[in-house]
Amino acid sequence: MAEDKELRYDPATIEPKWQARWAADPGMYAAEPHSCGKPKYYVLEMLPYPSGQLHMGHVRNYSIGDALARHMWMRGYNVMHPMGWDAFGLPAENAALKNNTPPREWTLSNIAAMKRQFERLGMGFDWATEVTTCFPDYYKWNQWFFLRMYEKGLAYRKKSKVNWCPECATVLANEQVINGRCWRHEDTIVEQRDLVQWFLRITAYAQELLDGLDKLDGWPEKVRTMQRNWIGRSEGTEVDFFLQEEISQGTGNREQGSGGTRIRVFTTRVDTIFGATSLQMAPEHALVKALAADDAGLREQVAKLLKEQKNARETGDIGAIEKHGIPTGKFAINPYNGELVPIWVANYVLSDYGSGAIMSVPGHDERDFEFARKYAIPVRRVIAPADPHAEEPELPYLSEDGVLVNSGEFNGLSCHDAQKKLQEIAACGAFGEATVTFRLKDWGVSRQRYWGTPIPMIHCERDGIVPVPDEQLPVLLPEKIEITQQGRSPLSRVPDFVNVTCPKCHGPAKRETDTMDTFVDSSWYFYRYIDAKNASAPFGSAAAQYWFPIDQYIGGVEHAILHLIYSRFWTKVMRDLGMIENDEPVRRLFTQGMVIKDGAKMSKSKGNVVSPDDMVARYGADAARMYALFAAPPDRDLDWQEDGVAGVSRFLGRVWRIVTKYAPVARRASQSRSETPTSGTSQKLLRKLNQTTAKITRDFEGRWHFNTSVAAIMELVNEIQAVDAQLAGGEVPAAVIHELLQTLVLLLAPFAPYMAAELWEELGGEGAVLRQPWPKSDPSLAKEDEIEIPAQINGKLVTVVRVPAGSDSKVIEAAALADERVKARIAGKTVVKTIIVPGRAVNLVVK
Ligand SMILES: [Zn+2]
Ligand SMILES: [Zn+2]
Repeated sequence: MAEDKELRYDPATIEPKWQARWAADPGMYAAEPHSCGKPKYYVLEMLPYPSGQLHMGHVRNYSIGDALARHMWMRGYNVMHPMGWDAFGLPAENAALKNNTPPREWTLSNIAAMKRQFERLGMGFDWATEVTTCFPDYYKWNQWFFLRMYEKGLAYRKKSKVNWCPECATVLANEQVINGRCWRHEDTIVEQRDLVQWFLRITAYAQELLDGLDKLDGWPEKVRTMQRNWIGRSEGTEVDFFLQEEISQGTGNREQGSGGTRIRVFTTRVDTIFGATSLQMAPEHALVKALAADDAGLREQVAKLLKEQKNARETGDIGAIEKHGIPTGKFAINPYNGELVPIWVANYVLSDYGSGAIMSVPGHDERDFEFARKYAIPVRRVIAPADPHAEEPELPYLSEDGVLVNSGEFNGLSCHDAQKKLQEIAACGAFGEATVTFRLKDWGVSRQRYWGTPIPMIHCERDGIVPVPDEQLPVLLPEKIEITQQGRSPLSRVPDFVNVTCPKCHGPAKRETDTMDTFVDSSWYFYRYIDAKNASAPFGSAAAQYWFPIDQYIGGVEHAILHLIYSRFWTKVMRDLGMIENDEPVRRLFTQGMVIKDGAKMSKSKGNVVSPDDMVARYGADAARMYALFAAPPDRDLDWQEDGVAGVSRFLGRVWRIVTKYAPVARRASQSRSETPTSGTSQKLLRKLNQTTAKITRDFEGRWHFNTSVAAIMELVNEIQAVDAQLAGGEVPAAVIHELLQTLVLLLAPFAPYMAAELWEELGGEGAVLRQPWPKSDPSLAKEDEIEIPAQINGKLVTVVRVPAGSDSKVIEAAALADERVKARIAGKTVVKTIIVPGRAVNLVVK
């Protein structure tokens, strides 16, 4: 029996055995009660979309999180490590169209398949708290939150220009449009349509979302930067110009103009307003429509500009549009000096950005300069360098460090002072104000699709929009439905769903037929895990108070803008509803790299997908998981090589043979190692063991270089194998072998849980590996007899010298000077100084 084991590492036997044992012990990965007295640790990987098949990117993501969870369990924490399914969304509908399978059936069978894969991989999730977002017991709370937001004015309906993906046949959020294309359809250009849509007022939290980023120092800087840019705060001034015709005598002043038609512009540089030589309006601006009403020629030209703008938007880069404009023949009055400036219509000005009108200051803005040159619009200098003797800079002069010129009574003011002064004057004259604008827009959540959360609203002819009363939640998705891609929501073709009684007047009314964006589901799912069975609330406040914020969240950087901004918004809303006290959902965020194969991201369309099932069948789950951690630092891209998996599998085979070979000796150890005198080989082995323990512990606490953790375990195993003869010859006491092998198994446990469980039992260990304390490194045993010290000449690294640990400066200097490479470099020169940092470095300064 023992010999058989020794011969062959066979994951196909070991892994299913433990999988069955773990499945029979559902408390294994469950969190303990809040009163357990242990510190809590909430580790979470982003929940998958149930496509039906895990891919290697998943294996990597979940191997990282699972290793951490196991480590924290062994460190004595009360660990929450849940899993669920982001189960609503378009692919289920597309599959339904293709295969004639109802979305629900398709989704649930995919979930079952992926759950089997997770279990086969040995992931330590607490399935008792599983969340499936397409179940009514979950999406009921999406509806409940929607109603709470509606009551607070945070959910509203308006007609607006929206992104429309013809392929998805639905509206997309701004966050789901990437370079003008659909986030799910790289080749599909997103169209603009005017539709009445539901929005969530995320902009109400724009400033707080921005400020909060400064405190999220456990988040990658790149993610924080992406969010800052997306929120896009800019300070500036809103100023009203006045339409000339509206006032009696052409050159009116501020007072005269204040009653006329106002044209509001936003500028970040109000200090340059005396240099405004035209106004540029969006083709769709209401005033343009009015001006063109009686002017067929103008109408035609405006239509042309609008078409150009649409085309540019749809190819994704409005910034690169070839700028065209036309003068309207009308004039506006600059409120600061009464000057008349011509009103133009331009194809690069967007109606939904700011006020849809800008003042054009060609002397001090690149884009305005380009436009002015093209159409011979005057260019005027109104900012000059602060130093009066400085050479006059070329226009456009963009600096904000100058002073005002050609600006009447404001000449000589610095740009900054002038901005303040001009803002004050605008406020006093009621024609403008200092303002902050954000790039962030409200979150459009309406989707004209079936497989999502029904929006709990009713349209009544008498009462308008009427919220569904709480006691009527959930508004259930009808099960039997024909999915077609006709553009309107499929729910609008289900009379039983649409026709309802108005809760207010009890007359006939119609349900809202749009469903919610699936990003609503993922905005708060991690709060549901902690209280997944709660039937009377989304979750209990006490549970949230205990578990939040999440200690460690792990997922792909592609969610930096979408999910990670929406879920921060949702947390702030829940806080303001009095449900939680934390301001942010996640304390530390980790974004792992992608899995690449043959130079490209693994994807079905590229045909380079590696199936986890194949890997597990060939090499075992432990090898597949361990390879995913070993092949690259977790934050970098991983280039998948099957040879590498085979290599890790061979390594595990070596661990297997060594441990099983000496397990009988280890089991016979009657004393503890500390009572056993050690020398020679034993000390060397114990040193390596304690160094390895220290290194892996540091990696878990710090930068998560699990690739080097695994490499350190490999080195340790090499060192044990190198003294096989001494071990076999009885030179090393049983107590040392016992400690060596047990610790090796515990160190392996986060990375190769199946093998660790089996070998733990083989060594006579009691209880589950997960319940063993994480090994501690003994610094006195880890200390090297000899240490390596980098030797530099004039600050440049030349070599590394070995000296006894604890050597003084003289010994280190002598060792450096005796080194052959150092000798060669300093031949014929003089050492003028030797700088030694004891234990760290030696630097020779030579001339
Ligand atoms: Zn699409
Ligand atoms: Zn009514």
